[in-house]
Amino acid sequence: MTTQATPPRSFSFEFFPPNTPEGKDKLRAATAELALLKPKFFSVTYGAGGSTRERTLDTVLDIRTLGHAAAPHISCVASTHENIREWLQRYKDNGIKHLVALRGDLPSGIAAAGEFRYANELVEFIRREFGDTFHIEVAAYPEFHPQAKSAQDDLVNFKRKVDAGASSAITQYFYNADAYYRFIDECTAKGISIPIVPGIMPIGRFSQLARFSDACGAEIPRWMRKKFEGYGDDADSIRAFGLDVVTALCEDLLKNDAPGLHFYTLNQAALTTAIWQRLGL
Ligand code: FAD
Repeated sequence: MTTQATPPRSFSFEFFPPNTPEGKDKLRAATAELALLKPKFFSVTYGAGGSTRERTLDTVLDIRTLGHAAAPHISCVASTHENIREWLQRYKDNGIKHLVALRGDLPSGIAAAGEFRYANELVEFIRREFGDTFHIEVAAYPEFHPQAKSAQDDLVNFKRKVDAGASSAITQYFYNADAYYRFIDECTAKGISIPIVPGIMPIGRFSQLARFSDACGAEIPRWMRKKFEGYGDDADSIRAFGLDVVTALCEDLLKNDAPGLHFYTLNQAALTTAIWQRLGL
């Protein structure tokens, strides 16, 4: 694999905005616990069509009040240029300089009437309207996006986001490191040199993981699926096996010069912390 590491590596943790007071308290506790690991930043997801945008911003500001760097996500599906401009201005007015720019997905059955079709148009728009105000992260798919016409097309489409001005990328989660290494090699061959940080999904509950993976196109290798299925309802064994597999994946990625790790924490600190400690980071 072509090496990606240009120190310092970027370690980050992703949250979704809580929608109850209890969820907020729990997230504050998780933030405090994960902050001990000294990530570069926390990121906070954004519901497609702007459905969580107030809560996304509130959560980012809350994390910053606790003294940590935080980047909001923004998605453009079903949005107008005016909505997005207004919302980017709010980010800017709040001193935000780092964001994750996405197309987003609408719940099935809802038509996507909006002025942006793809994330590259969002990145172009941000650069046109806001210059270099923001460090822009985009999404990358080592196992390819489920709607891509072909693997080759998906790579071309990823390059469109880079050419439009993306600063770095975070991948969809995967459990097959070779898919990531090959993706990096193909990006390098296309002249893409931005850091592409692997997204890591710790495994707590297999049924939940299987559901997510079916929806987002991440593959759970057969040997892993069989092992998890064989544990049935034995939550301790599932957790222990999940920790082993994900720690080994992270070790391999870091050994092969991945430029950092981005953990999909699902607002829980325990699994990410356990993996981190095993990695000796
Ligand atoms: P795009 O890059 O636009 O790609 C979408 C599809 O269109 C791909 O199949 C691509 O090949 C194709 N495509 C792209 N550009 C073109 C073009 N110009 N012409 C033709 N085809 C094209 N979702 C949320 O709703 N909120 C979040 O906060 C959120 N955070 C995420 C964070 C990360 C790190 C990742 C990996 C995903 C996240 N998602 C989030 C999910 C994401 O919105 C979905 O995966 C969505 O389906 C695609 O978004 P994208 O930005 O990758 O889209």
